[in-house]
This record gives sequence, structure tokens and C-alpha cells, in this order.
Amino acid sequence: MTESLNKSIADYFTVEEIKRLTLPSNFRYGSNIYTCGAVEYISNEPVRVEAWVGGLDGTVAEGGGSRRRVEFVSSPKGLIWNCTGNPKNHQIFCKHCVALALDIINKKTV
Ligand SMILES: [Zn+2]
Repeated sequence: MTESLNKSIADYFTVEEIKRLTLPSNFRYGSNIYTCGAVEYISNEPVRVEAWVGGLDGTVAEGGGSRRRVEFVSSPKGLIWNCTGNPKNHQIFCKHCVALALDIINKKTV
């Protein structure tokens, strides 16, 4: 079977998949960031998405915190994510990644 080279970013994400990638607390925080609409796209292509995420007032639990730049890239080896808030070589799927992924899912179903 031949597959196209790279899956589109949206094809990687379901709510279940995001929950598998991240921690329950980050899923909660990221959901709040997404619900508050704190996702601003820099570029939005099928295989590469970049956005500013966060920057809300309030507590961390409410989705508050610094604004970070998040990038998702669909590579031949799979999904690569990058958040400027994460230390180098320690790329957890953080709350900013969760917020952007939820936004992408929402756009897909609309
Ligand atoms: Zn982050």
C-alpha cells in the first residue's frame, strides 16, 4: 500500500490521543487555554502548524501563564512537537501543545 509521504497534522490528533501523550494536569490546563481562545496561529499548513499559545491572566489551573510559541511538524517518522517553554531535549507534550492540538481537532470537525 502506498501512503502519502506525511500525514496531515490534524490526522494525528483525537482527544484520546492527546490524553495519551500528556499528563492529566497538563490536559486540564491546556483545555482551559483552548476554551479561553488563547491560540493564535502564525502558520497553519497541513503538515506544519505554528502558533502562539497562552498568555492568559489567572492561575495556572485556570490556564494562566506565559505565552509560548508551539510548533507541530508532520515528519516521515511521525509527529514532532516543539514548545519554546520546554527545556531543550525534554520535549514533553505540555499544556500549550494540548491547547493547540484541541484547537486543531475543533477546526477539523467544524
Ligand atoms: Zn509549553
